[in-house]
Amino acid sequence: MNVHEYQAKELLAKFGVNIPAGIPALTVEEAVEAAKQLPGPVYVVKAQIHAGGRGKGKFKELPADAKGGVRLAKTIGEVETHAREMLGNTLVTVQTGEAGKQVNRLYVTDGVDIAKEYYLSLVVDRGTGRVALIVSTEGGMDIEEVAHSTPEKITTIVIDPAQGFMPHHGRAVAFALKLSGFLNKQAQQLAKSLYEAFVSLDCAMLEINPLVETRDGQLLVLDAKLSFDSNALYRHPEEVVLRDETEEDPAEIEASKYDLAYIKLDGNIGCMVNGAGLAMATMDIIKLNGEFPANFLDVGGGATKEKVTAAFKIILKDPAVKGILVNIFGGIMKCDIIAEGIVAAAKEVNLSVPLVVRLEGTNVEKGKEILTHSGLPIVPANDLGDAAKKIVAEVQKVA
Ligand code: ADP
Ligand code: MG
Repeated sequence: MNVHEYQAKELLAKFGVNIPAGIPALTVEEAVEAAKQLPGPVYVVKAQIHAGGRGKGKFKELPADAKGGVRLAKTIGEVETHAREMLGNTLVTVQTGEAGKQVNRLYVTDGVDIAKEYYLSLVVDRGTGRVALIVSTEGGMDIEEVAHSTPEKITTIVIDPAQGFMPHHGRAVAFALKLSGFLNKQAQQLAKSLYEAFVSLDCAMLEINPLVETRDGQLLVLDAKLSFDSNALYRHPEEVVLRDETEEDPAEIEASKYDLAYIKLDGNIGCMVNGAGLAMATMDIIKLNGEFPANFLDVGGGATKEKVTAAFKIILKDPAVKGILVNIFGGIMKCDIIAEGIVAAAKEVNLSVPLVVRLEGTNVEKGKEILTHSGLPIVPANDLGDAAKKIVAEVQKVA
């Protein structure tokens, strides 16, 4: 689960991390009020969306030479102008995809006199199964480019969870950032605080880009991107309330209510499958046959009629869907029960697109019989290859 920059910063401040003063705003008036409460004389108005690259982003509705989603303002009047231009408009960045994201919130923050920008992040490194600190002197907006062309400028420091954060980890961070004196001390303390925050908040990722050195020798967190480990949310009610559903795909939110793992994709064949492995194989074989899946959808082991119905509804809400492929292995759940579920669900949602069903497993013959006698135009398939060929043929017939 992702949160906004201002939420991440508020959390980090509780761990003693140095952040510039800032206030979130939902309207132009609130943005102006926020600026009035800040010391000035320079403010920065920042679009709050769940995506990075805002500084270099472009607003769809504004001329191509308009400023991006992170803007400097030298007066309260300028804060107002920026807020008016940004709120309600769509910001497209390297991370949002072409569709972009509507800006519904702003963060008005102190303008900082930057001497140098650094990069610091913490992630769960799957290779070692440990939290890794990733540090670079080349902070700012192009860390992906640094990782690609000059990877030697990035240092990774892995922390043993049994040992926890040790002073030498802090020194390694400060050394990698080539800092001396008071800045070096601040970097050590910061690394420790960030690690504490990461572990106690059950984060999946925490990225500070940039971490800045100010002209008066302070180390400040200027941008923060934070995501929580969704599997640990049950023990953090204080994090659950930070969820901003307007940043998420409505179909994915609906799916999560029914415990369905759904991810929207760009193709035209809706998939309903049980088990992530089978779902991946189904998507692959659709692609092999020349079409593209409209979604990934794993209904899980215990696919009840309610779940199957919810899944059909979610798939059919996507206007790009021209056909549905159901590929279910009846293991825990028997095929006849699944077939009944599919028939009932298809009737309930008034299925309007071709439906190919491939069932395998316990009671498969009974299941197939139910589908054949359902009175619905369901195309039965014998195996995965057959199913893919059939749904692709159906979809191409429609097109
Ligand atoms: P994003 O990563 O989404 O582009 P950032 O918050 O990193 O957004 O902002 C982009 C750039 O804008 C930063 O690298 C920094 O140079 C500048 N910037 C951001 N916040 C401030 C601030 N409070 N004061 C001065 N400059 C800032
Ligand atoms: Mg940034």
